[in-house]
Amino acid sequence: MKILCPVCGKPTDRLIDGLCPECYRRSRRIMEPKRDALRVKVCRKCGRLYYKDEWLSSSEELAMSVEKDLPRLVKVRGELRSARVSLYIDKGFAEVHAVGRADSGIDFFYEETLRIPLKTEYSICDWCLGKVSKKKSAIVQVRASERELSNDEKKAVYKVLDELSSSGNAEALPWDVKEEAGGLDLYFSSPRAAREVVRRLSERVYFEVLETSKKVGVDGSGHEKYQSTIRLLLPHIARGDVVLYRNEYFLVKDVDPKRVTLLNLSSYEKEVYMLNKSLLSRISVIARANELKMGVVVYTAGDKVHVMSNDYKVYEVDIPPSARKLFQEEQTVGLLVLENKVLLIPSPP
Ligand SMILES: [Zn+2]
Ligand SMILES: [Zn+2]
Repeated sequence: MKILCPVCGKPTDRLIDGLCPECYRRSRRIMEPKRDALRVKVCRKCGRLYYKDEWLSSSEELAMSVEKDLPRLVKVRGELRSARVSLYIDKGFAEVHAVGRADSGIDFFYEETLRIPLKTEYSICDWCLGKVSKKKSAIVQVRASERELSNDEKKAVYKVLDELSSSGNAEALPWDVKEEAGGLDLYFSSPRAAREVVRRLSERVYFEVLETSKKVGVDGSGHEKYQSTIRLLLPHIARGDVVLYRNEYFLVKDVDPKRVTLLNLSSYEKEVYMLNKSLLSRISVIARANELKMGVVVYTAGDKVHVMSNDYKVYEVDIPPSARKLFQEEQTVGLLVLENKVLLIPSPP
């Protein structure tokens, strides 16, 4: 039996909410907007689009991202079979083309289009700011030769960054710092900022500079883009190491940006040398500070000092008269047991 639709007057098999399916479909939409607008950032340099925490390189990618985000953007009545998004960024709207039905009582599926205002805001994307790995414009790698960076050395790097940030010079700061392979990687958006940090660090730490530059692509305005890597190589020696230099053993007392101070472990005299490549190439590390045994001076007699190591072995070591004050009874000392020699290292005060 046919019923007449109260709105259009046509005969129909059934009424949904008092309307024929055609009239219901016209008055009850499958999709209702949940938001007043779609908000998108546009990079003013390269045109990339930002949506949902991501910089996208084309409007096709943006359309896909918006499609995935539809449950947050539209409320669905009835049944949605598929939805496709078209963007008209310069016209200021997006369209969602849906196929579905607003009520399961409608025995056909149909297409419906929802127009959502699209609001754009200009910004600079991570790529143009140098924040994306492929276009990082300058990396400073701080490394030490044959060892990891010491805490003192890491502190020196952070100190330089602190100085820059407290001088309000945010542009000069790296946008990321990573602990990497026993060293630090500092990522800068400009090579100039990177060089300034290198210059400041050179006032605190000795290093050799190796600089490389490689082409990583083309930027939004068609210019070739280069990434420069500045590798700072700190010396293989650090404070507290026991080293061999010109066939004598030394304790590294201090390394500053220009000099190294060594304590001769036979005479216990200090020697100061200008730091340079050729000096460093002649110094070999015998033991790192943390590889030394600890011991206690148990007694001294004449030029002999008796030391008990923390594994309860007693060693008798000849000490020149000028150095006896460094090894008083009950004093803690460092100990390096070599094949034919035992080295006593005075504890730092
Ligand atoms: Zn009707
Ligand atoms: Zn950009």
